Amino acid sequence: KPFDLAGVHTHVSASVGIARSDHDCGSVDALLRRADIAMHAAKKLGRSRYVWFDGSMERELRSRNATEAGLRRGIPEGEFLPYFEQQIDLVSGSLHGFEMLARWQHPERGLVLPEEFIPVAEECGLIGDLSMSVMRQAFEEARGWDPQLTLSVNISPSQLKDPWLAQKLLKLLVETGFSAERLEVEITESSLFENLGLAQSIIGSLKNQGIRIALDDFGTGYSSLAHLRALPFDRIKIDRSFVSSINDNPESAAIVTAITRLAESLHLAVTAEGIEDELIEARLRSIGSYKGQGWMFGRPLPADAVRRLLAERNLLPVRRGEEPQRRRMNNRDRTRRTR
Ligand code: C2E
Ligand code: MG
Ligand code: MG
Repeated sequence: KPFDLAGVHTHVSASVGIARSDHDCGSVDALLRRADIAMHAAKKLGRSRYVWFDGSMERELRSRNATEAGLRRGIPEGEFLPYFEQQIDLVSGSLHGFEMLARWQHPERGLVLPEEFIPVAEECGLIGDLSMSVMRQAFEEARGWDPQLTLSVNISPSQLKDPWLAQKLLKLLVETGFSAERLEVEITESSLFENLGLAQSIIGSLKNQGIRIALDDFGTGYSSLAHLRALPFDRIKIDRSFVSSINDNPESAAIVTAITRLAESLHLAVTAEGIEDELIEARLRSIGSYKGQGWMFGRPLPADAVRRLLAERNLLPVRRGEEPQRRRMNNRDRTRRTR
């Protein structure tokens, strides 16, 4: 019950974790540890509640800790790499640019997808370092592509709480020689809740440098019209869950149409993500003008595969004095070459 404390009306709340000693639990220490894990689960669920321990919590914690240790080791080791997904202008059919998607080239597990490591990197405060490392590699790579081609990068909510984000990004652009006009930053609405003022100021600085801003995964979150008005977006990206089901689900088709009309009235460009086959593309063409991405155009590719694809299409200019492959030759390549 709320009570008065030194004249202030207040209340105490508790998060409780409960573990049982009769389940293969060898010691008091182990029992307390399990109760503690359950208590953290209670806090994560929104506090002021009790949660019983179960074995899956311990496994989840172990895997999360392993991921965190892997991030701390792997970021400086350069295990996190940019992959690139094609973005196509559906009106002309031409290649417009690429979205950079992070991948973890794990020494034992092979290629790990971002859904596994991005949330952990956010939780333990490593997302900034991870993002800068992957973006640096991507900018260095994209600098060698045809200058018409754009690059989109994802920025996570916790990065938009960093007042230095705009400065860090601009420094990276200067250091890598990649032009701000070719860069698009994708943010999701969840970035805007905690501190809209700070997000507005960061986005304002990025826009002033010529960087474009896209609102990613539109339709899945709050889809707030106030956000569309409060921030100078250049583009809305319709979430792939609506696009990929557009021919199977009338509600999806209605939502895609409604978002498209909304974007048109606000003079915003639209990207449809999740175009998995030609029927989806045809349906989209009947609704509006889009930039599109999806498996129909290709899966995300590593840098060398992108280079081959661009070379085949004459989109890999070799500028005098800065031949792209040689410029980025790393130590391992050097030894290989001298051998
Ligand atoms: P996103 O930005 O919405 O990226 C699109 C995701 O959809 C990618 O998954 C892509 O591989 C997948 N996709 C593309 N085409 C299709 C399709 O036709 N069908 C289906 N079913 N899926 C398709 P991915 O690479 O696993 O990335 C997942 C999410 O991880 C991204 O969603 C983005 O939010 C986040 N992410 C990736 N890289 C970074 C990064 O460097 N920084 C941050 N902060 N987030 C990142
Ligand atoms: Mg994205
Ligand atoms: Mg998306």
